[in-house]
Amino acid sequence: MGKIILTGDRPTGKLHLGHYVGSLRRRVELQNSGAFDRVFIMIADAQALTDNADNPEKIRQNIIEVALDYLACGLDPEKITIFIQSQIPELCELAFYYMNLVTVSRLQRNPTVKTEIQMRGFSTSIPVGFFTYPVSQASDITAFRATTVPAGEDQEPMIEQTREIVRRFNAIYGDTLVEPEILLPDNAACLRLPGTDGKAKMSKSLGNCIYLSDTADDVRNRVMGMYTDPGHIRVQDPGKVEGNTVFTYLDAFCRPEHFARYLPDYASLDELKVHYQRGGLGDVKVKKFLNAILQEVLEPIRTRRREFEQDIPAIYRMLKAGSETARTVAAATLADVRRAMRIDYFDDAELIEEQSKKFKGR
Ligand code: ATP
Ligand code: MG
Repeated sequence: MGKIILTGDRPTGKLHLGHYVGSLRRRVELQNSGAFDRVFIMIADAQALTDNADNPEKIRQNIIEVALDYLACGLDPEKITIFIQSQIPELCELAFYYMNLVTVSRLQRNPTVKTEIQMRGFSTSIPVGFFTYPVSQASDITAFRATTVPAGEDQEPMIEQTREIVRRFNAIYGDTLVEPEILLPDNAACLRLPGTDGKAKMSKSLGNCIYLSDTADDVRNRVMGMYTDPGHIRVQDPGKVEGNTVFTYLDAFCRPEHFARYLPDYASLDELKVHYQRGGLGDVKVKKFLNAILQEVLEPIRTRRREFEQDIPAIYRMLKAGSETARTVAAATLADVRRAMRIDYFDDAELIEEQSKKFKGR
């Protein structure tokens, strides 16, 4: 059995640094590593509609933005398949069967969904589609027989839910589906990158993002306005690095060579942290350092994005071709699922024979 990746993003906005460190950067490395037989990247528009039913235009507009961000980061449709979820109706059918294998109380226990319900202010008016999106995510993953899902920490409960569905399905209907594993970022700061406001997660829905497509000025302004340690008022005051967003971002992005390039007075991030904690190091200096690093990361992405923006029809053609390829793969899995569940009546000669025997002598 080969190693297969499935992962994706909701087209609810452009992609941001959280996506980059949580999943995107890793995807590009894995795509180029040659260690995976197939890589599928899904633009999850159907899932995005579960909490944006009244604003389909937002989703429609953002599909191309997400595709541009992918290409700008180095995802390469020559090597992988990029597709749009709603173009694969087989995924809905799988979800319909999986729903029978999950209880309402199990869905209610999902901590990520709980937080998201609160964040969206749904209270008790939760759309059924939104409530059940972890089941739909199980169809996305299993349809492509994915072994590996590179994602941020918030996705852990979803992968666990998928694994349970796979085990239940295989136990009832026989070995059919593949149990996936989540591939979390290996750097703790990247598991859940905080927002520039210091809130727990950088998220499109919270407006606390640095987008991959932001201009150099926007990035600088965001960094200079970033949440640090509120107790660090004067330069000489000792400062905290835990919970200090600027240092969390440095943990996520800083590499040893950045010091020689942008801050040669220090040899390492540890040294910089020690100075900050001791007092005598101002926020502005640290923020300028972070800004230099982020500009270095983002500039090539921005430039490539502008190039891809020049031929939008080619991107839609790429997405169409990717969706056709993806559909073929999902259809093959669905056929296996139907066979395992024995709802492939018309292809089942044994069933027809058995039924005719049953009725013959009557
Ligand atoms: P929305 O607010 O619409 O849910 P989002 O910003 O949470 O958007 P998603 O499309 O839900 O983005 O997430 C796509 C992928 O990016 C997932 O693998 C998720 O774990 C990862 N991700 C999103 N935000 C972060 C973050 N702040 N840190 C690390 N990974 C993240
Ligand atoms: Mg999300």
